[in-house]
Amino acid sequence: MSELTTIALGLLCFLPSLEAQSEAVQVRGRLVCVEAGTESQEPIECPSEAPVRALLDETGRLYRFRLDDPKVSMFDDPRVRTRELRITGRLDPSDRLEIIRVKSIVDGRLHFVYYRCEVCHITAYAFGPCWCCQDEFEFRETLTPPPQ
Ligand SMILES: [Zn+2]
Repeated sequence: MSELTTIALGLLCFLPSLEAQSEAVQVRGRLVCVEAGTESQEPIECPSEAPVRALLDETGRLYRFRLDDPKVSMFDDPRVRTRELRITGRLDPSDRLEIIRVKSIVDGRLHFVYYRCEVCHITAYAFGPCWCCQDEFEFRETLTPPPQ
């Protein structure tokens, strides 16, 4: 085995553990659109049907989301998209924000944002019909934590 291969393998083993250890960050701001398919960091005007993929914080820093993050589907919901948000997440090695928790700020107070199906007792963090009974999820925005 060449020395280079050994180094490459060593890096492959090292990277996932780096990702696991990355600190959680909290960012506060509003959702914006960025040019899809490019690495441009410039926010663009959002056409209503465009996917929202970044959060612009109060200091003007843009946080792009991971494209494979299922929680991003929450931002398809206009009730979430139009809010000021505080997102807890982790920055991956390519500086994309992986979402852990989304909270909204209403009248200066943090609210839990989630979806609920009381029939199936499911709390969800993705927009859409309940995956169990196919009824529409009920949108919730509360000061108290969601039921488990
Ligand atoms: Zn259900």
